[in-house]
Amino acid sequence: MRDLYIDGAWVEATTTRGGRAVLNPYDASTVTTVSEAGPDDVDAAVSAARRAFDEGSWAATPARERGDLLRKVAELLQRDREHIARQESIDTGKTLAEGRIDVDDVTNVFRYYANLADSDAGRVVDTGDPGVVSRIVHEPVGVCALIAPWNYPLLQMSWKVAPALAAGNTMVLKPSELTPLTTMTLVSLLEEAGVPRGVVNLVLGDGATVGAAMVRHDDVDLVSFTGGLATGKKIMAMAAEGVKRVALELGGKNPNVVFADADFDTAVDYALAAAFVHSGQVCSAGARLIVQDTIHDEFVAELGRRADAIRLGNGLDETTECGPLVSAEHRAKVERYIERSIAEGARLVAGGGRPSEPELANGFFLRPTVFADCTRDMTAVREEVFGPVVTVERFHDEAEAIRLANDTDYGLAGAVWTNDASVSQRVAGALRHGTVWINDYHPYLPQAEWGGFGKSGIGRELGPTGLDEYREAKHIYHNINPAPMRWFSGAPKEG
Ligand code: NAD
Repeated sequence: MRDLYIDGAWVEATTTRGGRAVLNPYDASTVTTVSEAGPDDVDAAVSAARRAFDEGSWAATPARERGDLLRKVAELLQRDREHIARQESIDTGKTLAEGRIDVDDVTNVFRYYANLADSDAGRVVDTGDPGVVSRIVHEPVGVCALIAPWNYPLLQMSWKVAPALAAGNTMVLKPSELTPLTTMTLVSLLEEAGVPRGVVNLVLGDGATVGAAMVRHDDVDLVSFTGGLATGKKIMAMAAEGVKRVALELGGKNPNVVFADADFDTAVDYALAAAFVHSGQVCSAGARLIVQDTIHDEFVAELGRRADAIRLGNGLDETTECGPLVSAEHRAKVERYIERSIAEGARLVAGGGRPSEPELANGFFLRPTVFADCTRDMTAVREEVFGPVVTVERFHDEAEAIRLANDTDYGLAGAVWTNDASVSQRVAGALRHGTVWINDYHPYLPQAEWGGFGKSGIGRELGPTGLDEYREAKHIYHNINPAPMRWFSGAPKEG
């Protein structure tokens, strides 16, 4: 299996750790088997990236030319859109429609950073002294370790690769061991687009061995990680040893606040999408629904009715509305949260178990699940479930809505539904979350920063800040007419 990409070539893993089966979560069938890299492969990949950074030309290539490469990748992504969307569906279980949206989003992100990179040449500082030129220039950080999760494999990796390349870095990519396929495709498109040797390297394998070896490697300057909170803490601790730059995009426990004056049908419709798109395996999923008491009962009843009507199936079938969970282990984890919620007194309104259709029996499916009468001390209200489970809490007034919405260790995203613009603006201002949607849920834009407050992470992806994550700012101070300053008294000897 030549499926690691190191120093400009597809190579086999040097270690003999055996391969890893990639499963289709729809029916647990094996899609393919990929390499399981070891520390030696990581070392080879990081060393190639180091050489390409120190001795290669990428860092010094004009930003406009780096942008041309990114634009070429965007073209290739669109050329292969259908293939990549199918691959993502087979690998993650998500629907084709979601896979296509991911490819389009990623295309836009490559285009955005292609343009941004050469539109910013730093800045000149006004020193007030015509004999001095002071400039701030941006330079790449160096070798980047980019580690992505399984829920949006192509998208999360691309949010790192595009700005890292635009800024002139070199890199080693590691997708989740559960979902490596579209990252392998992305690397082949980067190769086709002409990325210079060693600038992009790919290793495959688990987190504890391969991911940790990347983070610890002395030649890595920056670690950008998207994944769970527990892993994020470990990565931060490991990176601290080398005083590396760290960017962390972690989990969320995102409030979706619905006031009584919101359009009822639209708010229910979006609440379903917020909670159940990609079976709730979305870091920004609206997993905590917080509804005003006067509409609460009616809202919960309608939400439950419509959750029960969601069509589960094969993501490749265009009529499927929701696919399976990513793995048997992950489904078992979500099932434990469901059992615990019932034990803690939550009222099951919809779902709560596996579907009954025989054709779904081999896949890792769970019915969309709605819990009402939830309170802030319940485990599923506090912890990220990362599955098709929404908890509903009720609130009386604006102050209580804000208090509940902010009562979380996380702070990734949230939404507020109301037709009163002053209420929505006040609540949006008060929410301690990195993204707040008003009368909407889930959209993100390449131009707009994405990231979390609190334990949802450190740093931002997307937008201009997403580029800055991959750049050092350097101050160049030029004294045009140097002359002795005579700070110290000893004058030079005569003659
Ligand atoms: P995870 O933390 O288990 O794994 C993420 C990646 O880290 C994988 O590639 C894994 O192999 C690697 N990894 C695991 N242990 C490691 C270690 N010790 N050292 C280095 N790398 C290691 O997360 P997951 O289960 O793949 O993804 C789900 C999580 O990702 C959820 O918590 C979700 O909220 C989060 N997420 C966040 C965002 C965001 O934008 N904030 C986006 C998507 C997913």
